[in-house]
Amino acid sequence: MSSAETVPPANLAALIHTDELARFDYGDDHPFKPLRARTTIELCARYGLLDGPGVVRIAPQAAEPAYLERFHDPAYLAVLRRASGGVHDVAALARGIGTEDCPVLRGIWEFCLLATGATQACVAAVLDGTARRAFNLVGGFHHAFRGRAEGFCYVNDAGAAIEDLLARGLRVAYVDLDAHHGNGVQDAFYAEDRVLKISLHESGATLYPFGGAETELGAGRGLGFNVNVPLLERTDDEVYLETFEALVPPLLEAFRPDVVVAELGADAHVSDPLSHLRLTSGAYYRLVERLCALAPRLVGLGGGGYDVFRAARCWTLAWAAMAEREPQDGYAGLVGGMMFGSENDGLFDRPSPTTGAAKDRARAEARRVVEFHRRSVFPRLGATSP
Ligand SMILES: [Zn+2]
Repeated sequence: MSSAETVPPANLAALIHTDELARFDYGDDHPFKPLRARTTIELCARYGLLDGPGVVRIAPQAAEPAYLERFHDPAYLAVLRRASGGVHDVAALARGIGTEDCPVLRGIWEFCLLATGATQACVAAVLDGTARRAFNLVGGFHHAFRGRAEGFCYVNDAGAAIEDLLARGLRVAYVDLDAHHGNGVQDAFYAEDRVLKISLHESGATLYPFGGAETELGAGRGLGFNVNVPLLERTDDEVYLETFEALVPPLLEAFRPDVVVAELGADAHVSDPLSHLRLTSGAYYRLVERLCALAPRLVGLGGGGYDVFRAARCWTLAWAAMAEREPQDGYAGLVGGMMFGSENDGLFDRPSPTTGAAKDRARAEARRVVEFHRRSVFPRLGATSP
């Protein structure tokens, strides 16, 4: 890639945040709470993760509207801007704004520009040598399409960042760990072979957006560059990590991205009220550790997560992994490959394995999907099984 490869980054990780993002309110009845970001910052401070060698904090600026136009239809952005002033009309509704999921919210335009500016700052930080990894807690709005809002997402900051990276001639791997399928990113880059899309998510049989089947493999020259991993309800750490290991490292090693953009939605956590997966916070730590080891440059984005406190714990651990710190905690080491804490109030959850027939079903389905991709995608990308 560019000069970024020859100059070692000054820091391991950059945390991009302003409290202005955390203060934006979707309304009491809406499950999306930007406040999670403030809780994460507070937890990071409590565990001593915000300063010291190897880490830097950056306050983002609002993105220019032109940055969003890299991804979005300008006519859609004009409608969003009007809706942000309180205009609730048929044109907005036709673009998905004014629904229960994406209500007309005063100031949403400015919020979107600032959240996207934070993701843009992540891209800048990993390319200009500031840090090897960068994390925007209020990003990863993966359900927004080029021309419409969907699933709490009005603009797709991940998509705009990917367009930015492509325009610089870089190869991008997009890895989506959110419980929901990354439909907006998939749709935008479905025919693109310079972007490898990998989404692990709860099956569309039981969760919005009700797609993301393994058979959606991409189109045209992008065929084989779209890898969906639908998982059954109650999939736990053990099955999820086994599935991740079987697919993600070999695919990234074969594709050789310059930058990995990762959507780290914390809604696959066992406590999440919207999804039915069963990850613990320790799984997030392990997954982000693995992504850090595999990615030459990593842009981490927050995404979903509807249990505010537990999402903040997952992202505190994600940040610790990016900064290569071990949070001093009830952390009690490794047991059977899984981390656990001795205290409920620590960052690491107690193990929460699924048992019995539900576990057998979840494992069998995950292994079936892995085999499907080993046969259909691996040969196309030149990937080999571990
Ligand atoms: Zn989600």
